[in-house]
This record gives sequence, structure tokens and C-alpha cells, in this order.
Amino acid sequence: MKKENESRKNELWKQAYANLFSLYGDNPPEQCLSRLEEEKQALEKTDAVEVFAVLAKIREEAKRQNTMIVVIGTTASCFSAWLMGATAVNPLLPHYICSNCGRTEFVLDARDGFDLPPKKCSCGATLFREGHNIPYQGFVDAAQTGMRTFVYMSTAFKPIAANIVKDFYKNTAFVVPVKRDYAEPMGWEEYMVCPEPDHIPPLSADGTWETDCLEHTLWYEDETTFVFEPYPQLDYLEALCKTAQKSPPEPEALLRESILNSFYKEVCYGAPFITDKLPKNIPITCDVLMRIDGLCRSEGAWENNGADLVRYRIADFRDIPAFREDIWTEIEKVLSQHEYANSTTSLRVMKKVRKGRYFDWKDREEIENILLDFGFPGWYLLCLTKIKYLFPKAHCVEQLLVDLTCVWYRISFPKAFRGCMDLYKSVWDRRWELSPYKYVDESSLDSF
Ligand SMILES: [Zn+2]
Repeated sequence: MKKENESRKNELWKQAYANLFSLYGDNPPEQCLSRLEEEKQALEKTDAVEVFAVLAKIREEAKRQNTMIVVIGTTASCFSAWLMGATAVNPLLPHYICSNCGRTEFVLDARDGFDLPPKKCSCGATLFREGHNIPYQGFVDAAQTGMRTFVYMSTAFKPIAANIVKDFYKNTAFVVPVKRDYAEPMGWEEYMVCPEPDHIPPLSADGTWETDCLEHTLWYEDETTFVFEPYPQLDYLEALCKTAQKSPPEPEALLRESILNSFYKEVCYGAPFITDKLPKNIPITCDVLMRIDGLCRSEGAWENNGADLVRYRIADFRDIPAFREDIWTEIEKVLSQHEYANSTTSLRVMKKVRKGRYFDWKDREEIENILLDFGFPGWYLLCLTKIKYLFPKAHCVEQLLVDLTCVWYRISFPKAFRGCMDLYKSVWDRRWELSPYKYVDESSLDSF
């Protein structure tokens, strides 16, 4: 089966390149081509491209059935995942892209592609706003030791997604349902892909692998698993969509000031420990909304840390690290300005911080001295020592799209919205309590 697998992977990478040329034109900008080449080289020995292809099929079917999914963790940090259709998150620097003539324009001083002002192309077509500035290095690092992909979906969509996984691997691998004691009450469904017969664990009479291990341990090396989690907000969205008899819109329709402000006022106020401490005149942008979400789901980044830096005007809210990738981006920026050659420094710091192990890291002082010499702000480094867990940015971008879609329905279809009011309340009440840190054993956070 190994051979069939390899040839399918080659085909899928070819598909990613074909999609690059069809979206960005025959001569795509250098940063698009080099990013895809780097990712291909880094991920060639893993099963990532197959995982992206499965996710793309799941996303496509979800769209067809008028429901949405949220890919959790760092998977959506990959440009190749976006090109394959696995995610709505384009991780390049903010840019415009024309759907008609392929013209691309990068805006290097923008914080997020969704916050670029609307614009038309010289050919007359609307320019799409893309790019969230997310490095792929965190995903690549996690992918080296097996791939565990988590996806939020509606309860009704779970069996459909499971069938897509089974169908995708039907000629190249065995798909084994996994039962974990702690995951069952939460309605998680897990499927392990075993490329060889000797990778199959001992199964129960019903064909499942039952394991009581609390954290995820690999059954065999380079294991690939899919975990589907039911997510109340997506049930709510599905109900709204059915009642309104209208499909969820494309992201472009959601990037309107009225929708962003409405979301901030109605929903973000549910997180007063953040909004109460923000400057009153802060512009409500997608970047700011995602940062609020990221800080809510992280641990030790805001209270007694970032909040004080903002209150005493030591730092701008938008510069407080809210996602693990912020750290990589900030450090990389300074190191590359000074042509510092050690390419793993940013990744090593990001890894330590996101697990809360930066404070007593033995290499900390040495790296901090180099960064301070290069003019890196001291407050930033102090802030990193207090962080216990940092959320991945790509997940926040996917979540923002779901949040804004719910608000779009409320504004566009008030009658349908009133019909789903009871669901609405329970969803938003829980919205800020979804930190993975609160219910997942710390050792299993490695795969997030
Ligand atoms: Zn154009």
C-alpha cells in the first residue's frame, strides 16, 4: 500500500501547484511560490497533503449541505492547505487578489488581510482581501511526530465527515474508529488511519479500538488521526440557515463595519475582563476581534500581564502577543533585520512560550541577550515569561468567520434569528469558556 500512497501524495502536491497557478496567474508572486515550495519540502515526508485533501472534501461537502466546519489548531497555518481548499485561512502577508485577472497586491504594513479597505481591480472585478500573516513552522514541527487533526462540526454532520475519511482511504489504508473514555461523553469521534495491517491495534468485537489513555499516545510512529468534535455554535448556525432558507455567505460579505461592530457590542462584551480594559477609541477591526478571542483562550497572556501593559500604556493592545505565531513573527522580524543566521531561534522560543515553559528555559538568557542587543523590546520578553499557554492564530481566523456569519444572519434575517433565540443564548453564554486549556490534559496540547 505504501507505493499507492506515495503516488497519490505526488498527485496531490501537483494539484496544490495547479491551484496556485490558477489563482495567482501563470507568474505567481515570488512569496507565494517560495512559500509553497518551502512547505512542500518540509511536509513531503509526512501525510499532511492527504490530510489537507480529506479536509478539503469535508469542507466542500459541508458547504454543499449549508453547514460550516472549523479546523482546530495549526493545520490552517499552511498555504498548501488553503490552496487545496482545506481551510478558508490564507496565511500569507495581507494582500489583494483579483478573481478575474489574477492580479495580486501585497500590503506590507497592514495587520490583517480582512482589514484592507474594499477595492476594485483595474480590470473592474472585485479584489478579494486575503492574508493573515501566519508562519507554517509550528505546524511542520508538530507534523513530524504524527498528525492529529481536530475539526469542530455540527452534530448532524459528524457521520457524513466520517464517511468521507473512510472513502478517501478505502484503497490505501485501514480506518479504525477509536473510543477513548474521556472523549465519549463530549461526543468526540476519532478515526485512526493505519497504512499497514500491522499498524492496526487490537480491536473490540464492534471493530473499534478501545483505549482508556487520557492523553493521546501514538499507537505507531507517524500516526494520522481525525477527531470530530460537535460544536453547539455550528448546530445553531445550521438551524439559522435552515430557518432563513439561505446559505452562509462568502467571507467578503462578512467584512463590513456594521457586522464587526455588532459582533463586538453583542458578543465581545461577554468577555469584560478584556473589553473593559481596552482603550475606548480602539478601532474594531478583524485583527482586534481575533486578538480578543486569542487572549480569551490563552492562559496567562492577558490578566496580570498584557492588561497591565495596556493600562500603563507601555504597549499597544495590538502588540500584545495573543497567538503563539505572534512570537515567531516578531522575533523573526528582528533577527532577519540583523541577518542573524540561526533559523530555529524563533521556533524554539515560540514552542517554549506556548507550553508555559519559557520562564525556566535554560537557553532563555542567551537568546534574550541577543534579542535585546538587536533592540527587541524588554517588556515583550517579560510578558513571555508569564504566559502558560498560547492559542494558534489560524484557529481564531476560522472561528471569526463562524462568529461573523452568525451575526450576518441576525442582521439579515431577524425573523429567523428570533426563531432560534433559545439556541443563540446558550451558544454565546458559553462562547468565552471554550479554552482548550480547561479540559485537555497539558501533555496532549502538543498536538494543538
Ligand atoms: Zn483584475
